[in-house]
Amino acid sequence: MSKPVIGISAVNVFNELYYLQRVTYPQTVENCGGIPVLLPCLPGTENAAELISHLDGLMLPGGADVDPSLYGEERTPQCGQSLLADDRYDFALIGEAMRQKKPVLAICRGMQAVNISCGGTVYQDISAQYGSDIAHSDPNFKAEIFHAVNTEPNSRLAKIIGTALQVNSSHHQAVKAIAPGFRAVATAPDGITEAIENDDGSVICVQWHPERMQDTPEMVKLISDFVRRCGSGG
Ligand code: MN
Repeated sequence: MSKPVIGISAVNVFNELYYLQRVTYPQTVENCGGIPVLLPCLPGTENAAELISHLDGLMLPGGADVDPSLYGEERTPQCGQSLLADDRYDFALIGEAMRQKKPVLAICRGMQAVNISCGGTVYQDISAQYGSDIAHSDPNFKAEIFHAVNTEPNSRLAKIIGTALQVNSSHHQAVKAIAPGFRAVATAPDGITEAIENDDGSVICVQWHPERMQDTPEMVKLISDFVRRCGSGG
């Protein structure tokens, strides 16, 4: 049986001269049985439907904050830099993957992008707009920090990873209004939404970084289950 081919969105960086992505995403997909391909976020989105038709699934990695204009807000001082063209490209990929019923695994910024593209919003900065008493990122984004999450027992996510576990945390934004068709399926002790999924569980979005926790069996299961579903048509 052929292995599923999984597209991983890349970012346009260094004066828009390079399409790049961190090695952990393709490495993890390959380790869990898939064939990863990096997707350059080209300026036009007219080929998104055909591109997605060649793929078995879509992984959306972490990255920059989504441009607040895409959820109808003014940028606050705490909002990070955005790449509007990349946001639009990711939105096109998300829309097509969902329309063509290809499984999606969205990580960190990817979760925020899915939520916004489907009509939800985010806190532009957790500290400024939510005021949590637990840390969701290292101040310098260097050390890996962890916090607990509880998952919704009747979710696809809970069936894969269980109902209570520790996850890494490297984000300063978080889902605020959850997009129609999605629900919260994991929550941090402070109430921050740490995962969402759609009604049929074909789109799973996590705020943490499972690709950086591959010595944790639950996180291997999360990626492996995604790759398996990509290979079986969802
Ligand atoms: Mn967190």
